[in-house]
Amino acid sequence: MTKSEQMARVKSKNTQPELLVRRLLSARGVRYRLHRKSVPGSPDIYIPRLCVALFVNGCFWHGHGCDRAALPKTNAAFWAEKISKNVARDRKNEEYLSTLGIEPLYLWTCQAEAFPKICATLAKRWSKNRLSG
Ligand SMILES: [Zn+2]
Repeated sequence: MTKSEQMARVKSKNTQPELLVRRLLSARGVRYRLHRKSVPGSPDIYIPRLCVALFVNGCFWHGHGCDRAALPKTNAAFWAEKISKNVARDRKNEEYLSTLGIEPLYLWTCQAEAFPKICATLAKRWSKNRLSG
């Protein structure tokens, strides 16, 4: 993917990594809501039973600091400001979520190979929660 293609994809809903996470959760019977506006940050996936908000974060857009988050050489200052605003917004939402007792969970697209494990852990918590009523 070129940098401009990457940028064209930012902030979009229903991205491939997001669909992957949704498939993994559905396969394990975890019920979730999508893009809840009533939850701070409008998480990509929200699991009401566990009070867990999942954010499937594009590395570039959310300033992950990994290889994929490298700023383009042209208009670097513009992008740096834009990304830092996004990061600040993410932090604010994170604080807001914790005051509401909601646990934010960030899934970075560069770590997609870890998604099945994360979803399996959530599924375990999901079924445990059901047993305890
Ligand atoms: Zn990353």
